[in-house]
Amino acid sequence: MTASHIAAIDQGTTSSRCILFDADGRIVAVEQQEHSQVFPQPGWVEHDAAEIWTRVRSVVRGALERAGLTAADVRAVGITNQRETTVLWDRHTGVPVHHAIVWQDTRTEALCRELGRNVGQDRFRRETGLPLASYFAGPKIRWLLDHVEGLRERAEAGDVLFGTMDSWLIWNLTGGVDGGRHVTDVTNASRTLLMNLHTLQWDERIAESIGVPLAMLPEIRSSAEVYGEAVGDLAGVPVAAALGDQQAALFGQTCFAAGEAKSTYGTGTFLLLNTGEKIVHSYHGLLTTVGFRIGEQPPVYALEGSIAVTGSLVQWLRDQLGIISTAAEVETLAGTVEDNGGAYVVPAFSGLFAPYWRSDARGVITGLTRYVTKGHLARAVLEATAWQTREVVDAMEKDSGVTLTALKVDGGMTSNNLLMQNIADVLDVPVERPYVAETTALGAAYAAGLAVGFWDSQETLRANWHRAAEWTPKMPADTREREHRNWLKAVERTMGWIE
Ligand code: ADP
Repeated sequence: MTASHIAAIDQGTTSSRCILFDADGRIVAVEQQEHSQVFPQPGWVEHDAAEIWTRVRSVVRGALERAGLTAADVRAVGITNQRETTVLWDRHTGVPVHHAIVWQDTRTEALCRELGRNVGQDRFRRETGLPLASYFAGPKIRWLLDHVEGLRERAEAGDVLFGTMDSWLIWNLTGGVDGGRHVTDVTNASRTLLMNLHTLQWDERIAESIGVPLAMLPEIRSSAEVYGEAVGDLAGVPVAAALGDQQAALFGQTCFAAGEAKSTYGTGTFLLLNTGEKIVHSYHGLLTTVGFRIGEQPPVYALEGSIAVTGSLVQWLRDQLGIISTAAEVETLAGTVEDNGGAYVVPAFSGLFAPYWRSDARGVITGLTRYVTKGHLARAVLEATAWQTREVVDAMEKDSGVTLTALKVDGGMTSNNLLMQNIADVLDVPVERPYVAETTALGAAYAAGLAVGFWDSQETLRANWHRAAEWTPKMPADTREREHRNWLKAVERTMGWIE
């Protein structure tokens, strides 16, 4: 019998999943495990990469068991991952030299400011498509090299390897200290501030400016090709795709053509617009990034609006304030009131990402009066996600000249109807959710399946996309405009809190 499934490993910010798909792109089994979030200081966020690798192995085994399958039934495995999160490990022992620094972490803010001194935060934008910001991996590597005793010498000698989560997992999956492949894909590499978007190779001059030795960097490969064979539970299965989570979602939503866009609502929210083979530079606070590259085909680029805090604001309401006990309750609570009661929440917990890129911003709640209840706050929390989306869409229309006519959405927050309706209202376009909501894992599976010929073309995959839900705009234009103005006033209040 020939192997009839594709496995996707989705290594996310809060959890790791393994999902097995059949040839129609349908889910056969899912296994998921959370990992610890470490907050050593305000603004710092870390993960234990060794714990993540243990969780990943365990979810792979769990998914296979659930489906009653073995490695022989799996044609290829694809990886998708939280982006920018930075791991350094010892090549000889396989042990991480420090906790991974997570994308949300702002500890490199001063370093980024220093790197941009006299030239500004766009110092490397022409080459990398990115502003200098604490979000990206390059400065995180530099921080580790500066703060872990003796690390720079070991890195220069080639004893310490850098990876984003894709590299860390591929290296471990393909044997670790016994011949593990040290590679990354173009989408993950495009988030380091170290890759040149034109050549798709590490930019030596930038690496030197940031202070990162080339010896520790993985080889950059396409998003869909065989990097090596797995050992362990997936023994012999080709590891055949890697894509950063947002690019994977773009692919899973089958946004293959220029002008197609998706928005993924999870811990943060990320709106990506496919710009085809063209590198579109942003003048309105978006990122230029690689969308995907399938084998030897030309790379496909994207414009991205990244919002740091959306689902995590709901978590904050649940875990830090205790106003709700589950994330889903935010909808019930918001449904107890008609509107926001005049309150606005701007969750600049990690500074503000697109379109502002202000690391010095911090969160605010404005418009408080004695009238405001927790219901109003719940509503303001959901509206924050909608308005942040609107700001990114406005920037994208200015940069690309493309007018959005509908938005494809996915991610954990899309189960919230009130929120999805609110997004349709503030964007004034329909919002559509596909039948398979796990688009991130699906995108990784699609890329892996294409790499090994399990699927023959992207057109075959397009036929798998089916709409499961749609929300159409209902808000009167004058309400939308008034609320928009109030939101922008609240955003102004977040700036300049950190000296
Ligand atoms: P990630 O892949 O970033 O870990 P998910 O796509 O799994 O995120 O989505 C989880 C996020 O969605 C959490 O931050 C959670 O607070 C939020 N979330 C989940 N369900 C709801 C809901 N019904 N309403 C609002 N937010 C929700």
